[in-house]
Amino acid sequence: TVKKAGGVRYGFYHNKMTQAFPDKMIMETHLRRAIELNELSLHYQPQVDLQNGEISSVEALLRWNNRKFGAVPPSEFIPIAEDNGLIHSIGAWVIDQACLQLQAWSRQGISNIRIAVNISPQQFAQADFDDIILNALKKYNVEPGLLEIEITESAMSNMNATLSMLKKLKKIGVKISVDDFGTGYSSLNYLRLFPIDILKIDQSFVREIQSECKDAAITKTIIHLAHSLGLEVVAEGVEEMAQVSFLRKEHCQKGQGYFFSKPLPSREMELKLLSIS
Ligand code: C2E
Ligand code: MG
Ligand code: MG
Ligand code: MG
Repeated sequence: TVKKAGGVRYGFYHNKMTQAFPDKMIMETHLRRAIELNELSLHYQPQVDLQNGEISSVEALLRWNNRKFGAVPPSEFIPIAEDNGLIHSIGAWVIDQACLQLQAWSRQGISNIRIAVNISPQQFAQADFDDIILNALKKYNVEPGLLEIEITESAMSNMNATLSMLKKLKKIGVKISVDDFGTGYSSLNYLRLFPIDILKIDQSFVREIQSECKDAAITKTIIHLAHSLGLEVVAEGVEEMAQVSFLRKEHCQKGQGYFFSKPLPSREMELKLLSIS
């Protein structure tokens, strides 16, 4: 059986990767059926306005709850899906679900809440990625400005392809953000060339904002850079009040992190939004 084969592999490789989680090939077998078995879901984490505390956007974060493995973190299964091509169907499912959620919220009177979805470089490189977005928006009659596409700098390596895709997305009207900003290899040149709306400061900079003067300097610089370019800026991984104070003082617009809320299941996020709308 599959399980037996996995046991053999465990012993055979016994490397650091396979300690905490089952063998990649076994996981892949299960991941292939995750959509049909209804094992995937989106959780939502609010992005909070640091001046007035309002929530105007949430990030959709994918969760996989498998009968055998339990909750598998995205850091484990997304790389597998990216390696074997499953990311295309999983990614399309995420976009579909986010648009379905936007429709459901709009029908309940929760309006003007934007949902940001994470897009893998492989998805973004698909020639028809813009059609996938457009079709999902149409299917659920969603206002394009309520959908945000989060891409990382690693998705932007091909200058021409990136520019042409971003232009198509811009024309559709979705928002575009750069996730984990500052951790990639790209040059500042792309900020000049690409039609980007939002910078998300990576949580590794925000974490030690209080104690590491280099991290504080980088964070301030990203905030000021965003302001000068007319971009919105979101700090990721905000866990403490001291970080909020710092970010507020530097006029960072939004914060996202455990200080405000962990990612919540759809219904819990909905109740939160209903209570404040
Ligand atoms: P990300 O897009 O940078 O998302 C932020 C991650 O930080 C999330 O981890 C979130 O739960 C976590 N986080 C939020 N607040 C805090 C905090 O205050 N402290 C700390 N330490 N962490 C915080 P998560 O949900 O495990 O996702 C990890 C990564 O997996 C994401 O990083 C994203 O790159 C990827 N991912 C998640 N969902 C999707 C998806 O639907 N598609 C793709 N392609 N990638 C996804
Ligand atoms: Mg993200
Ligand atoms: Mg990321
Ligand atoms: Mg991030």
